[in-house]
Amino acid sequence: MSDDDTGTLLIRSRRMVLPDGEREAAAFVRNGRVDAVGGYDLRRDADRTVDLGDLPLLPGLVDSHVHVNEPGRTEWEGFASATRAALAGGVTTICDMPLNSSPVTTTVEALRVKLAAAAGQCAVDVAFWGGAVPGNLPEIGPLLDAGVIGFKCFLVDSGIDEFPPLSREELRAAMTALAPSGAPMIVHAEDPAEVSDPADGSYDAFVASRPPVAERRAIETVISAAAFSGGRAHIVHLAAGDCAALIGSARAAGIALTAETCPHYLFFAAEEVPAGHTEFKCCPPVRYAVNREALWRALGDGAIDGVVSDHSPCTPALKGLAPGTEPGGDFRTAWGGISSLQLGLPVVWSVARRRGFTLADMARWMSAFPASLAGLPAKGQIAVGSDADFTAFDPDASWTVRGSELLHKHPVTPYDGRTLTGRVTRTWLGGAEVTPDGPPRGRLLARGGSVMSGGAAEGGNRLGG
Ligand SMILES: [Zn+2]
Repeated sequence: MSDDDTGTLLIRSRRMVLPDGEREAAAFVRNGRVDAVGGYDLRRDADRTVDLGDLPLLPGLVDSHVHVNEPGRTEWEGFASATRAALAGGVTTICDMPLNSSPVTTTVEALRVKLAAAAGQCAVDVAFWGGAVPGNLPEIGPLLDAGVIGFKCFLVDSGIDEFPPLSREELRAAMTALAPSGAPMIVHAEDPAEVSDPADGSYDAFVASRPPVAERRAIETVISAAAFSGGRAHIVHLAAGDCAALIGSARAAGIALTAETCPHYLFFAAEEVPAGHTEFKCCPPVRYAVNREALWRALGDGAIDGVVSDHSPCTPALKGLAPGTEPGGDFRTAWGGISSLQLGLPVVWSVARRRGFTLADMARWMSAFPASLAGLPAKGQIAVGSDADFTAFDPDASWTVRGSELLHKHPVTPYDGRTLTGRVTRTWLGGAEVTPDGPPRGRLLARGGSVMSGGAAEGGNRLGG
């Protein structure tokens, strides 16, 4: 079998996670898509049959919040390393953020530069967010036409000079321009008027400088812009659990608003961040344990829709962490961003299972919701017509994270040394079993799921049969 001919596949699991829950099932795959789903004993003539027995099979994860940083800051991460790490973590589609690459993806020309950089080196499928910044309103329509899945904006300093925040008026104008497309405006929601300079380099001072009220005020701004424009809005990396009620009530009032949180907010608490360990720094910050409880409740009752990584690595030097020395990072000056793309599923599962959540919840939070946010209807579920992207996940395996063993470009991660429960064991992309060492089969996808011109990787066209 050549790399560009996946043939047909019949895959069985006694724990297949389908849209209506987990059960004994089999899926038949043809031309890279799910052609039939039936009982465990489903009979089809297939080139290959895989029987996973009691090993659960989930839809491949969709991580709608990844900072790949290529081109321009490829020393931080890159398409080859990020997508290989994603694959190893059971993530079969990532959505790249418009920053911190250089150029930032705020023009069609910059998108073309990014597509050229990504082409041919992606191990999983990749879609792209555009960026909304002051002055690029005329680019919104052309960027949508060129295939971006929606737009990201900041309401507070992004840390990248060429990606400034929008004012309230600019947010309203951008959302008004975006509304007819149905594509979402995804917002980094912290209000600059509520953010201050930390009093010292400690973690507590950093958390105090970016309080929950900063998120609350910014979410109010987003709700107001969504109501004004009729557009769809999404809050990225919600960290303040008490804002979930605000989001829920806006939604009850008919506003098209969704929210994600991230594995680190669900796993860590501020009380346990050791001095100098700037690998924990991100914005908004990981808050205290009582807040973590509120986030889990909001996930449970649906006020938070999904969980995605916000994988945002940089070089160890920018974290103030020199290799081989005791961490002595300063939380005032270290770059913000947590590296976790390969770890999302086991991190969230390690806590979720103890709280009585199921693998079906994981698939809803980490596959189905992000796929719908990104406008990728063939992603995020095991169902007839969907792309045959699967991940086999051993929910009971216990293992200890070693940052140096991850496929991220840099080993720095706050999960280093943590013991997790649950491990990705096998992954399929478009019906082909894939490994990080294999040839990159990922495609570059536009909103709706079509393959972007100039973006088809060598051997990436799976529809030829
Ligand atoms: Zn981010």
